[in-house]
Amino acid sequence: RYVPTSKHDIREARQQKFGGNLSLSYADPVMLVRGWKHHLFDEWGRPYLDAYNNVPHVGHAHPRIQAVAADQLKRINSNTRYLHPAQTAFADKILSKLPDHLQVCYFVNSGTEANELALRLARAHTGAKGMVTPDHGYHGNTTGAVDISAYKFNKPGGVGQSDWVELVEIADDYRGSFGRDDPMRARKFADLVDPAIASLQRKGHGVAGFIAETFPSVGGQIIPPKGYLAAVYAKIRAAGGVCIADEVQTGLGRLGAYYFGFEFQEVLPDIVVMGKPIGNGHPLGVLVTTREIAASFDNGIEFFSTFGGSTLSCRIGHEVLQIVDDENLQDNARQIGGQLMAGLKTLQAKYDYVGDVRGMGLFLGVELIRSDGSEAPEICAYVKNRMRDHRILIGSEGPKDNVLKIRPPLTIEAEDAAMIIEVLDHILGEVA
Ligand code: PMP
Repeated sequence: RYVPTSKHDIREARQQKFGGNLSLSYADPVMLVRGWKHHLFDEWGRPYLDAYNNVPHVGHAHPRIQAVAADQLKRINSNTRYLHPAQTAFADKILSKLPDHLQVCYFVNSGTEANELALRLARAHTGAKGMVTPDHGYHGNTTGAVDISAYKFNKPGGVGQSDWVELVEIADDYRGSFGRDDPMRARKFADLVDPAIASLQRKGHGVAGFIAETFPSVGGQIIPPKGYLAAVYAKIRAAGGVCIADEVQTGLGRLGAYYFGFEFQEVLPDIVVMGKPIGNGHPLGVLVTTREIAASFDNGIEFFSTFGGSTLSCRIGHEVLQIVDDENLQDNARQIGGQLMAGLKTLQAKYDYVGDVRGMGLFLGVELIRSDGSEAPEICAYVKNRMRDHRILIGSEGPKDNVLKIRPPLTIEAEDAAMIIEVLDHILGEVA
């Protein structure tokens, strides 16, 4: 039987064998067959700089991850119904990174599953159903997770908004209702939660909780003003709800100055959700909560996930967190992120269509605009594709898809950052 191997044939086979909404990046897609740290290699062995993928948190093909996975697969890969030291060791390692009030871990297989579980925990603990969440958020691909993901349910073809969900304006102080020149903007954005709470109460759903990506990513790499979450959390708690921090994109040192985004916001979430980077590519999701919330969920119905918390997953997750520490990757994110931010600021000063540059550590966004200040998705698509021609992978985000997203593995080095800025400068020059 003919087995396709050329890029063209693989692309055709993919179109035949998979659903049409399985998206593919770039006008000229890349086929990648190997990775090393923050470098990727195509079928011809050509190198690409990976300035986009956050899943390979400690780098593609890390030898310590290879070794620990191989070692565990040689021994046993089994579920949580048997005792194993890897499970408690992984829990201890995660808990050592979190505030003291978060004491109970649940291991699942993805960020989606962890958010789905967060929804169940919030409802079990409060007895209420309603959820408040910022517009344009994304929390996963299952029925429940889509219901709290405006990015999915609010699109043409989406399932629409459930009446137990209340959306609040995303706290975007570049383009939103309250700008950076307004010192009260954090409070004003937070006040938008009041009518959302009132509406849920009026409809009889009550308030089970509030869920937000600590720094909204698909919303456009937004850094909500400091004080925003503290004010929101106070309102949600006063209404009886629990506060869920989705740290899937922001956690584990990416932000440089902070291990988790909620530290910047100076809040103590009731539930923290982790995913993507925590397995470095191995499917793994983690939820951590308080003893009280865990007790409410422990209501006689067994909680079990066949693969969640497997011996293999736990050893890989533990190794990822250990590598972040051993290789000082959080500090590298701070340093290289600072270098990138400085470079991007010079590009903003040079090109009118760079409207905003924002981010923290290696979580960065560049908002591209037209001369009238409106969103410029066409420039964004051009730049992203031209960067790919120069073999640098970046992404795009935002409700209008006009925000360049730079979010590399934490191993990225100074000369890579210099190359990103140099090539971006060249391509932005082409746009002019
Ligand atoms: N939350 C956030 C903030 C995410 O970015 C994602 C994935 N993009 C998810 C949840 C869902 O995670 P997964 O795809 O692993 O289910």
